[in-house]
Amino acid sequence: MEQTLTIIKPDGVARGLTGRILEALENEGMKIVGTKMVQLTKRGAEGFYQVHRHQPFFDSLTTYMSSGPVVLAVLEGEGIIERLRQLMGATDPQKAAPGTLRHRYGLSIQENVIHGSDSLDTARWEIAYFFSQMEIHSRPLNSG
Ligand code: UDP
Ligand code: MG
Repeated sequence: MEQTLTIIKPDGVARGLTGRILEALENEGMKIVGTKMVQLTKRGAEGFYQVHRHQPFFDSLTTYMSSGPVVLAVLEGEGIIERLRQLMGATDPQKAAPGTLRHRYGLSIQENVIHGSDSLDTARWEIAYFFSQMEIHSRPLNSG
């Protein structure tokens, strides 16, 4: 079954939006199969966002992402990667469609409240960056 990684970013956790955002995901039928709160180091954030290492916003992004705790979650379901991206909305909250999480809660193009993997390969890599197999609970009941 398809899985994706979501992160409630430091601005979301700090503003007390964790419950509301997880509820919005579950209300859309997205199944949470793993979750934890962590505070990234600057190095950890740089590793996670290494595809953006040549972008002008890289230093600011990784400083922000390591500025406070984040809530990580692995979501599972058919088409979950694209469904999460739709629910998140555009990177810039000002351009995000009404009803999307970034439109509702995003503060700026950087502090945009939530992350979601953008492809199957990225999702696999991002999940493995943070979660061991034992921390993901996607087995159906009675499967041993
Ligand atoms: N970002 C930023 N400035 C930009 C573009 C992106 O600070 O001009 C940040 C923002 O937090 C974004 C993250 O970098 O979510 C990763 O950028 P990406 O283009 O992958 O956007 P996403 O996939 O998160 O929509
Ligand atoms: Mg991205």
